[in-house]
Amino acid sequence: MKNTKALPPGSWLGMMGGGQLGRMFSSAASRLGYHVLVLDPGEVSPAGEVSARRIQRSYKDREALDEIASICPAVSTEFENVPSPSLAYLAEKGCRTAPLAEAVAISQDRSAEKAFIASTGVPVAPHLAILSDEDCVDADPDLFPGILKTARLGYDGKGQVSVDTPADLLQAYHSLGSVDCILEKKLQLKTECSVIVCRGFDGESATFPVFENHHKNGILAETVLPARIPEDAEAEARLYAIRIANGLKYIGVLCIEFFILEDGSVVANETAPRPHNSGHATIEACMTSQFEQQVRTMAGLPLGNTTLLSPAVMLNILGDSWETADGLKEPDWDAVLAIPGVKLHLYGKAEARHGRKMGHVTCLGKTPEEALERAKKVAVILR
Ligand code: ADP
Ligand code: MG
Repeated sequence: MKNTKALPPGSWLGMMGGGQLGRMFSSAASRLGYHVLVLDPGEVSPAGEVSARRIQRSYKDREALDEIASICPAVSTEFENVPSPSLAYLAEKGCRTAPLAEAVAISQDRSAEKAFIASTGVPVAPHLAILSDEDCVDADPDLFPGILKTARLGYDGKGQVSVDTPADLLQAYHSLGSVDCILEKKLQLKTECSVIVCRGFDGESATFPVFENHHKNGILAETVLPARIPEDAEAEARLYAIRIANGLKYIGVLCIEFFILEDGSVVANETAPRPHNSGHATIEACMTSQFEQQVRTMAGLPLGNTTLLSPAVMLNILGDSWETADGLKEPDWDAVLAIPGVKLHLYGKAEARHGRKMGHVTCLGKTPEEALERAKKVAVILR
């Protein structure tokens, strides 16, 4: 790999994307002495607002990409649907991109992703690519009851339909617009988890402890650190994560969602080529945050220590917390901040909308029970 010397403080780091993940990245980067240049097309840019520079253009804008390449020796991203050809173009222009375009392209397609994970020997749910009406008719009855997911652009449970029997598949496929899909057998989940793995240009990698995730309406609601799962499942998930990152020759921060089944077995679900919502508590609860790891990997610095310093519970704050019978109202932040061990993060989004991620709260505690107790109090305030 060419051009992987550590970048000195004062260097510019490019960030493709202007959301909250970019915002938290910027904080970590500026603490280490770097300047951040954000590219994103949005009217309001949570990341741009806290960065040294921002270009408000599309991710495919040639001039913008040329400018980034001329200023930033390294570039990363904060959302998986960044056009991978733009990352490839930046790499051609001499930027070190972390992650590489190829790894991002695999994460963007559920079928390619499942096939790749399976090729590394990590278990995945039985599945079948559905690309035509014929595929629906021929689907193996063993895959039912199943879930049909669009291969691309799905998130927070969007672009998914439950399919109980083979007879329902064709209609489900049509209801998703007959776009390329993947049919997965519905597994009996005991726990949902994630592992965040960081891998440097030198191939060195580090995983965070496993996080336990709880979703509401398809959106992550709560993450518990450390996950309440058997030790061998924890070790296995972390090993699988490293195996997948190595297989992808991944550089940067990669999140892998896992299912722990009733029999204790560990099955990989999907990947996200960036820091992940489930890793936000690493800011306060771990020796090094996932965002600092993102800075370290792209800047060619040694990876940080991922040890858990404190049990923690992370709660997402959605726009729903603003909703009252009389219209939108600012939540009672004073009450939230009065609870000991509670750290509030707000993303600076202009408008609170239903289901929109507006911020998060990390509740620390000396014991997992204390962290959970504090999280319960916060949840009552934010409803
Ligand atoms: P998204 O990109 O929307 O997060 P996921 O593939 O993670 O898509 O699916 C969303 C949720 O649906 C998961 O968190 C899990 O609760 C459930 N789910 C997904 N795939 C399966 C499966 N094969 N078996 C059982 N539940 C599943
Ligand atoms: Mg998911």
